[in-house]
Parts: sequence; structure tokens; C-alpha cells
Amino acid sequence: MREVEVTMGQIGGLRCRECSKEYDPSLRYVCEECFGPLDVFYDYDAIKVTPETFAPRDKTMWRYFELLPLSSLSSVVNLWQGFTPLHRSKRLAAKLGLRELYLKNDSVNPTFSFKDRPAGVGVSRALELELKAIGCASTGNLAAATAAHAAVAGLPCYVFIPVGLELPKVAQALTYGPRIVEVEGDYDDANRLAAQAADAFNIGVLNINLRPYYVEGSKTLAFEVAEQLGWEQPDHVIVPVGSGAMLHSICKGFEELRSVGLLDEIRVKVSAAQGQGCAPIVDAFKRGLNEVIPVENPDTVAKSLAIGEPGDGLYALKKVRKYNGYAEEASDKEIVDAIRLLAETEGIFTEPAGGVSVAVLKKMVDDGKIGRDEKVVCYITGNGLKTPEVVLESLPRPIVVKPDLEVLAPYITGR
Ligand SMILES: *Cc1c(COP(=O)(O)O)cnc(C)c1O
Ligand SMILES: [Zn+2]
Repeated sequence: MREVEVTMGQIGGLRCRECSKEYDPSLRYVCEECFGPLDVFYDYDAIKVTPETFAPRDKTMWRYFELLPLSSLSSVVNLWQGFTPLHRSKRLAAKLGLRELYLKNDSVNPTFSFKDRPAGVGVSRALELELKAIGCASTGNLAAATAAHAAVAGLPCYVFIPVGLELPKVAQALTYGPRIVEVEGDYDDANRLAAQAADAFNIGVLNINLRPYYVEGSKTLAFEVAEQLGWEQPDHVIVPVGSGAMLHSICKGFEELRSVGLLDEIRVKVSAAQGQGCAPIVDAFKRGLNEVIPVENPDTVAKSLAIGEPGDGLYALKKVRKYNGYAEEASDKEIVDAIRLLAETEGIFTEPAGGVSVAVLKKMVDDGKIGRDEKVVCYITGNGLKTPEVVLESLPRPIVVKPDLEVLAPYITGR
């Protein structure tokens, strides 16, 4: 990296989300007192950053190094992820009747989903903690992101996935050379086995024992949006939700920008989007519950969101309420229609998770939950090439012709 003026991070330690007990920043992830999850905190007063600090740096997520949980810039395992386009929508905005709509296009990350953000931080921190092997439990995209970073770091990698994931995702992940363990069960089964393996074989599993560090990568989705809007916050963001970790982390990102003086009081509304066959957070929101009831058999075309027992579900729900957002779901048909709508109006090809965001955006505008004058950011978190079969069925077939202009003519002129 070019920018080397900062080489030491300002990581303060880990703090329990429930009881606030503090720990040193080692390989731990649950509170010894209350079993609550641990989050990284920083010495915010010591972090002196202004818009000018970041402006000259590489256009990657590593430009926010001061707010990432690494002690040295030299540990960064860099795939040049992040600083993805904040695409100003014209035709989709017009169709929906919105004045100012942006699409945060994370489908163009190095492994084609936002998971390059948390995986990059998690693997970099694993090096600092001198772990000899890494792994993850994955709904598909984290598999590729983890394996790619493990390849760059030269670490052995163990990926736990449920059976039945989209073939392109499995093929992509396998190509980076990890050991992939396909667990006969759903994501929650794969996750449990990965947790046991982390303990038994001393593997740094990104979304389990490295979780406090790993989730920090997703904050950069908030940092970038603020910077790309000229250090302003949007009025409303729509976030697709599986485990809830990304939504929670995006909120932490906005909160930290306030802590270091780059934003004022948080005004942004944060809304959660899920697929209908696996929407435990939406369900809890709509019923006004203070618990998230697990979904037994997740069934949605949005497989990257199909987590029946979301680890951060309750915390994501609390953030949605705190930041005056909504939670809404989309059916498989609405998801496929939204994928096509996004592609046809904005030239962005997303996987179902992005379709969920767009479908929910549309629904919320129609329901009046998003005002026409709001500045809205919709997170598009993964690439459509990972799930081509999802849309293929709904699309018209190509026309087949002999290589002859006269045969072609009626198809073009309609005569
Ligand atoms: C993992 C994933 C999500 C959901 O993130 P969580 O942190 O599990 O809520 C959304 N979109 C895509 C493309 C993903 O891969
Ligand atoms: Zn605690």
C-alpha cells in the first residue's frame, strides 16, 4: 500500500455487548461473565482523522485503517476490496418515484460480494494472532472470500457449507484451494460443526472465534457511503439481512464516524430486508417481539440470507428500532422481478440478496414508509453471476436464426 504514515492501529480492546466487561484484543469472542458477544472498541479520542486524512489514500476499504482492528498495516491481506461504486440511480429512481436513490454496488468486489470486507479483516487479524489455519461457516459467499484471502496469506483453509448451495458459488470457492466440508444439514448445522472444529483443532473460524474482528470489516460499508456522499449520512439505508452481523456493523460504522467527529448526531434510518421463507427478524419486528424466533426450515431463493437462527438477529432488530427503520420481506417472485428490474434499469446484475434489497425498497416506497424526498441508499451485496439459474427460468429464450439477414429481419422489424 502507498499510504504508510499510519502503521499502528488504535484498537482499545474487546467489550461485552451485554455487560460491558472489557478484555484484551486476543482470540476470544464470548464474555466470560455473561456469555454476551464481544465487540472491538477503539481509543476514539486518540484517533485524529478528517476528510483530508482519507482523501489521498488507495481506493480500497483499507483507507479507514485507523478504525479497523489491526495493530499494523503490514498485516493487511489485501485483495483491493471496497471503495465500490455508490451508483446514483436514474431510471430505477424514476420508476419508483424517488428523487435521490443510490445503489452501493458491492457486487464488484474481488470475490464478487461484500464478504471480502469482513474476510479481509478477519484473515489479517488471524495473522496478527499467529493462527496456523483459518476457516468459516458459509451460506456461499463467505466461502469464496475466506478461501481467496487464505490463498493470499498462504494459510490452510477449512470452509463449512450446507448442502444445496448454488453451484457457481461452490465452484468459485473450490478454485481458491480450500478444504470444503459440505455438511448434511442447513446453515445452522454447518455453523455448529464449524464452532466445534474451531475449538477442537485450533482453527481461526472467521465468523465464530474471530467474529469480533471479522465483523469490523463490514463497517466500511457505512464509512464509504458517508465519504462518497461528501461526509454526509443518507436519510435511509436498506440492508439485506441473514445473521444480522452486517446490519449491526453498518450501524456501528455510522456511530463511530460520529465518535471521531466526522458525522453529527445519527439521523439515518436503517431498514432490514429478508426473503419470505426465512425472515425471523422481519417477523419479530412486525409482531413487536423482543426475541427472534428461529425458522426451522429456511426456504428462500436468497440462500445467502437463509440463516434460520441469526446470531446477531436480536441486535439487528434493536438497531432497526433504534434507528427508526422497518423490516420487510420479499417473496421468491418479488426477488427475481427485482433482480431483473435492477439489471434493466441500472445495468447492475445482482444475486438474490440484492434482489431482496431492491424488492423491499420498492415495497416500502409503495407503502409510504420511504418518502419520495428521502436520500436512500440500497445495499447491493453480491453478484448475479453467482446465481444465474435463479433468473434464467423467468427470462425469454434467445432467438435462434441462420446467419442470414433475411431470416433475422422479421425479428427486428416485427414484420
Ligand atoms: C452474507 C450475506 C448477506 C447477509 O449478511 P449477514 O451479516 O449474514 O446479515 C447479505 N448479502 C450477501 C450477498 C451475503 O453474502
Ligand atoms: Zn458480559
